[in-house]
Amino acid sequence: MKHYNIPIFISHFGCPNACVFCNQVKINGRETDVTIEDLKKIIDEYLEILPKDSYKEVAFFGGTFTGISMEKQKEYLEGVKEYLDKGMVQGIRLSTRPDYINEEVLNQLKKYHVTTIELGVQSLDEEVLKKSARYYPIEKVYEASSLIKSYGINLGIQLMPGLPGSSYESDIESVKKVIEIAPQNVRVYPTLIIKDTEMERMYKRGEYEVFTLEEAIKRCRKICSLLELNNINIIRVGLQPSEDLRNGGVSVEGAFHPAFRELVDGEIYFNFLKNLEEIQGKLEIEANEKLISKIVGIKKKNLKRLQKVKIVINNNLSTSEIKINDKIYTRKEILRKEIGESCEQNSNKC
Ligand code: SF4
Repeated sequence: MKHYNIPIFISHFGCPNACVFCNQVKINGRETDVTIEDLKKIIDEYLEILPKDSYKEVAFFGGTFTGISMEKQKEYLEGVKEYLDKGMVQGIRLSTRPDYINEEVLNQLKKYHVTTIELGVQSLDEEVLKKSARYYPIEKVYEASSLIKSYGINLGIQLMPGLPGSSYESDIESVKKVIEIAPQNVRVYPTLIIKDTEMERMYKRGEYEVFTLEEAIKRCRKICSLLELNNINIIRVGLQPSEDLRNGGVSVEGAFHPAFRELVDGEIYFNFLKNLEEIQGKLEIEANEKLISKIVGIKKKNLKRLQKVKIVINNNLSTSEIKINDKIYTRKEILRKEIGESCEQNSNKC
């Protein structure tokens, strides 16, 4: 059954934190910007257009849901309850910080049938977190994750490669720790410099270097390969401007591309093909038509960089197979190769 989110973006005006990448406006005396009437209006509008026989979750994104008062959380959850009771939506998901999870919070969320909690972990390197003005020990991430799981709630983790103080190695270490935690799903948001953030000021003072698109692809190739090889569902790689750069938030600099995930996937295939071309001198490729766009890359970038390549559609092959010079390779083999190559390129750090 197809899955849809009904996104409700809740600002957290009362947030006492000041993460360097966040442009959350602080407004005294107001906790959030979405009323219960707004909430119901958004849900009703989505229900009109979404297919009836789909799995729909109301998704509270945008702020730190469990950072707002228990009463306000309850109000929102009550607002969704009538839709859940009538079977019009099937679940609730929300995003929050690891240090805003405790039993009191989870008891209430469980009571209102919250199905997934996404933790904004960002990094599992404490130095990186400190430089990003997130002051909690990484043990908090482990504690929150196991507590969420113990309540039978699905766990999601959000990662931000490229934060201040991060490196290729520290971001890969973070993803390895995430794999140990074994969440149900992960989102990967390469760091962007957003207007009116402390990070923009750090950048202007020369204290933060732009996380380039090239570097972001390099790190995300390995991050995504590791996650996929460990059967962790990757919901999203890269920000979506309409969703995440809303409220006038503008990216000043950084690793943004509207089809970032496709770029990463295209590079994974390119590296595999390039290597084979160098060894075997030619590439006679057969692949399912659904895989062709990944093989040729965005704007046929891969085809232009490969010398002797011929591609034929063969829909008898699955989308996780590719036949090259008469040998079939699985996607897992390609991802394993990606990890091996990256290890060599990065001085045995893997
Ligand atoms: S990222 Fe979340 S916790 Fe950090 S300042 Fe923004 S709203 Fe607050």
